[in-house]
Amino acid sequence: MTLESLRAECMSCRRCPLSETRKNVVFGVGCENAEVLFVGEGPGQHEDETGEPFVGAAGQLLDRMLSIIGLSRKNCYIANTVKCRPPQNRDPLGVEQQACQPWLDGQIRLIRPKIIVCLGRISAMELIREDFRITKEHGLWTQKDGVWYMATYHPSALLRDVSKRPEAFADLKLLQAKVREICTHTTADPLA
Ligand code: URA
Repeated sequence: MTLESLRAECMSCRRCPLSETRKNVVFGVGCENAEVLFVGEGPGQHEDETGEPFVGAAGQLLDRMLSIIGLSRKNCYIANTVKCRPPQNRDPLGVEQQACQPWLDGQIRLIRPKIIVCLGRISAMELIREDFRITKEHGLWTQKDGVWYMATYHPSALLRDVSKRPEAFADLKLLQAKVREICTHTTADPLA
């Protein structure tokens, strides 16, 4: 199985009712041997229309956040907990996340990232711990199965509440330090 064959399979997924209302499956984007994987929540309207994750306002902020620490869509990977848009941008339901989880698990297995950054509460609750508290636990590292996990605020939360931005910036600097410590082909150098 390759990431491309997993993507091809995912394109025709009918595992949950979100497949009935989607325009496009939003599988993910980036480097197939990325050392850093970012996991958001689920596609919004622009992502559903284009098939690419994080292309709306939150995505533009995410791109700026990445560039501050020398990361980009080319040297990391960006995916979501669910690959199809929840109607009206509501939170994905537990059953939808469960139905979609094998795709994300497959991405993690094939990409083999060293670091997974959860963007927001929904992603952290799926990947780190069910009772994860984003306000208390963002920026903290946990290691599971040889992979380092950290959660930070979702870019949409940073658009709604700019007072959280300094904390998110501090999380990014921690991420940059971790990349420099353990990654071999990702520099996290904005001037590279
Ligand atoms: N929000 C997300 O969580 N994911 C996207 O792809 C876009 C917005």
